[in-house]
Amino acid sequence: MLTYTIGEGKEKDWIIGEKEFALQHQGKGESIFCLANGYMGIRSAYEEPYPFQSRGMFVSGCFNSSQNETVELPNAADSCQVVLKLDDEFFSMNVGEISGYSRFLNLYTGELIRSLHWKSPKGRRYDLIFHRTVSHSDPHAYGLQIGILPIDGDVRVEVASGINARMTNSGAQHFKDGTKKVIQQKLLYLDQTTTQSGITLYHCCGTTVRGAQEEARSFSMQRRMLMEQVSFQIRKGEKASFEKLAVLYTSKELAEQDEGQILGLVVCHLESLIEEGYAGLIKKSAAFMRDYWQQHDVLIKTNREKVQLALRFAQYHLLAMLPLDSHSSIAAKGLTGEGYKGHVFWDTEVFILPYYLLNEPNKAKQLLEYRLNRMEQAGENARKKGFQGIMFPWESAQTGEEETPLFTSMDIFTGRAAQVWAGIKEHHITADVAYAVSMYALATGDCNFLEDGGNLLIIGAALFWASRSVYQESRKRYEIKDIIGPDEYTEHVDNNAYSNYMAYDAVQKAIRILQENPGNIQEKAQEYYHEPQLLARLMEFADGLYLPQPLEEPKGVIPQDDTFMSKRIIDISKYRMDNVKQTILKEYSREQVNEMQVLKQADVLMLLEIFPDLFPVDVKIANWNYYEPKTIHDSSLSRAIYSVVASDCGEPEKAYDSFIHAIDIDMGQNPCSSDEGIHAAAMGGIWLSVVRGFAGVRVLEKGLGVNPCLPDEIREIQFSLTYRKKKMQVCVTAAKVSLVSDDKVEIDVMIGDKRYCFVDRLEADICR
Ligand code: BGC
Repeated sequence: MLTYTIGEGKEKDWIIGEKEFALQHQGKGESIFCLANGYMGIRSAYEEPYPFQSRGMFVSGCFNSSQNETVELPNAADSCQVVLKLDDEFFSMNVGEISGYSRFLNLYTGELIRSLHWKSPKGRRYDLIFHRTVSHSDPHAYGLQIGILPIDGDVRVEVASGINARMTNSGAQHFKDGTKKVIQQKLLYLDQTTTQSGITLYHCCGTTVRGAQEEARSFSMQRRMLMEQVSFQIRKGEKASFEKLAVLYTSKELAEQDEGQILGLVVCHLESLIEEGYAGLIKKSAAFMRDYWQQHDVLIKTNREKVQLALRFAQYHLLAMLPLDSHSSIAAKGLTGEGYKGHVFWDTEVFILPYYLLNEPNKAKQLLEYRLNRMEQAGENARKKGFQGIMFPWESAQTGEEETPLFTSMDIFTGRAAQVWAGIKEHHITADVAYAVSMYALATGDCNFLEDGGNLLIIGAALFWASRSVYQESRKRYEIKDIIGPDEYTEHVDNNAYSNYMAYDAVQKAIRILQENPGNIQEKAQEYYHEPQLLARLMEFADGLYLPQPLEEPKGVIPQDDTFMSKRIIDISKYRMDNVKQTILKEYSREQVNEMQVLKQADVLMLLEIFPDLFPVDVKIANWNYYEPKTIHDSSLSRAIYSVVASDCGEPEKAYDSFIHAIDIDMGQNPCSSDEGIHAAAMGGIWLSVVRGFAGVRVLEKGLGVNPCLPDEIREIQFSLTYRKKKMQVCVTAAKVSLVSDDKVEIDVMIGDKRYCFVDRLEADICR
């Protein structure tokens, strides 16, 4: 059970925690409280081992394939396990009695803290407090501290910890046994190299006892494991602590260095950490976090518990998942678990990138560079399938090849694996990336990015769609057949509205680029894509592409695809209420679900969210009302979209209801929601619901739009954003928008329907 009210006073709405230890539901806390800094992520498994634990450490971009299985982010060696013996009793929350237990993640500082009183089976009492952090100021550093206070008498403490490279991904071993050694009789060093991709991870850690005299220290080495045993005495009523500091590097950033240099570097780094102690580590990291919050905190005035906290929770994880550079991108679970194998989906460009676009545009650019760097492979992907242009993989990892597994896990009764069609047919990702590139350019005005590859990417995406479509002579139009849209419960359909409109958007933008011809892009693109008639080809396609229109009956509804409206409607209420997701697939086969008007997630609504000006409000309302009751929300990408579109329709209470559901995806009480990691896109979705939805902030062709639509429970929202290099503070209430900026650049802003020219201060009433 998560609690949201541990933080009081200055800490109110900064602390997410729990007050009970639940052996069977450890997965939730391990993911929710996960500590990560974009370079590495460490699941918050308890220090001492328990059954049902899923310990994990993931390093961004270090993919490997074990035994030709699907490429994934390997579970790296674990240094956070600590076995504690107090006199002759092993500490475990499973034996004896625990009281005063609390464990929480302080979002403001990025520190995980657990405190409890333990009465051992022999009746001896101890106060224990555990601290842990992964540094935000030093991406290679992390550490933990365990404070022990014996209440009934002196205690002899024995601590066993080390570096355990026996970790697997659900049994798959990704590393060869490497070098292990004890350096200067005090530091543990272990390296491990991935079996197929050949990436080496260098781990080094050291421990210190503070507040007590160390008695003995010994070391032991086994296969894939280097251990240390330390013992010390603590006197009754006195507190002592055990600290473990660690560094991690990989051969990706140390490629140029030889073995000796690498060892020197990691040891030197670790020694300086040890000198400053855990206190120094957390102090510097917390200072970084303070700065982050000063710049990006979104303040919501509301009396509803959890709402403010949810925003910060989302922003904490959005920071934790962001890689340091463009060598890698954001995985669907960030660095918080094995789920989705660390692969990158459209989640990044459509759900997460908007946050960075308006908060740290350089980071948005970095995320797009990840795709730009994989253009060549995207071209190869298209060619392999017989298409032109570029084709981004539905699931991406290191190379940019398609990484989606071909089969899901076995059916437990038949033992047969079901085919996964997403990697073969879910093609909208290519349009999504192109759309994100153009949004980046629109929000930043960064023409260089476009000229350095962005334009070529958009054109390549457009050409892909032109070649992916077929001309239907009988209807005199281009159609996009046999495709999967965002709603993955509907497969092999023709003319999925979302995909057709997204394709159209890419093509229109490509045409505009080719016509304006910056940097002689026409010639370059023709050559790059081996298409001499590029512009003519795209224009013909744009002219003829079928774009599904709102129906007469049911009035205003845009058909999700050609056959959707004729499918059977069933009552899905029980599946919507389930804690466990996708239970409908336990009652019906995929083929059966495919024949029903049942949505896994927002589909037509995605289209309305991305292009708010495409249809009038009555059409948007009609579609919301038609599709929402048919959507199970079995994907974490769904609720936030319904929320944003409801805000856009001027229906703030509906938007609020969807938003509260979106918050609960990870932060709610469902004990199994996040076992395999948090839902990265949902974190972006929480922010989108508030800033794009309630505050109505949009990056539009005609300028920056702000058009708030606040539900009754939210009185005011304050945040800062950067648009066209101009940083501004925004404050919205139901009736007013105010903007303040120190940057003297003039920009166009649309507040509601009115256009303003904004320099340093603007206050505008909202007229409805
Ligand atoms: C959703 C996709 C999403 C993926 C990763 C799937 O369940 O249907 O839309 O990209 O999860 O989050």
